[in-house]
Amino acid sequence: MQAEVDVEIELAERIARVREVIASAASRSGRRPEDVTLVAVSKTVEPERILLAARLGITHFGENRVQEAEAKILALSGRLPSATEWHLVGHLQSNKARTAVQLFSLIESVDSVSLAEILNRLGTRRGSPVPILLEVNVGGEPTKFGFAPEEMSSVLPRLLDLPMIAIRGLMTVAPAVAEAELARPYFRQLRALRDRLARENPSASLHELSMGMTGDYPVAIEEGATIVRVGRAIFGERPA
Ligand SMILES: *Cc1c(COP(=O)(O)O)cnc(C)c1O
Repeated sequence: MQAEVDVEIELAERIARVREVIASAASRSGRRPEDVTLVAVSKTVEPERILLAARLGITHFGENRVQEAEAKILALSGRLPSATEWHLVGHLQSNKARTAVQLFSLIESVDSVSLAEILNRLGTRRGSPVPILLEVNVGGEPTKFGFAPEEMSSVLPRLLDLPMIAIRGLMTVAPAVAEAELARPYFRQLRALRDRLARENPSASLHELSMGMTGDYPVAIEEGATIVRVGRAIFGERPA
């Protein structure tokens, strides 16, 4: 019993701390805290602790694997506030796209034209556009998924022709760096890319910039993040 209370207190303190950091970074960039959506990345976190986080006010959860998310969402069905939203933040295989469209309110990790085409077909079938972000590999790392920044000017007009996906903006996973400040150029690059794409495609609405994780989210917010994806700062270190 005491252990459970401790878990809850620790989680509450961590969430409060993250909220404070978000508020002060938002004010440094001339924005309000509510202009930044906190997505609590709950990969590897068990359903009961997700429920606790939801009771402590977390409204958005991020998962990187469809099957893991499906099992948890099923386990929590009827117990989470109805406003709870799930974002997919990891690579989506085409054979999981159908399930992903049912589970997630935003697929942040669309990283190929062929996946976008599949999601467009699924949107057509269900009769409403599928909200997505386009993942950009700003660091050009061979181990990471995402469009190359250079290809976005030619790719985006093709994707804007797909009527049953709703492209809301860009997402990136910045290279792992020793200190947050070193990630700033990557965040700046994503924002500059978004601004340029918006100029080139005036009909597009690319409001969202999903960037920043536990190690670097204050810097990402200073550079314009509208969505931060924070795991360890909320739930603690993940098992190796
Ligand atoms: C795991 C993960 C996060 C959260 O990382 P933390 O360092 O735990 O904050 C964010 N984005 C993606 C895509 C992830 O896979």
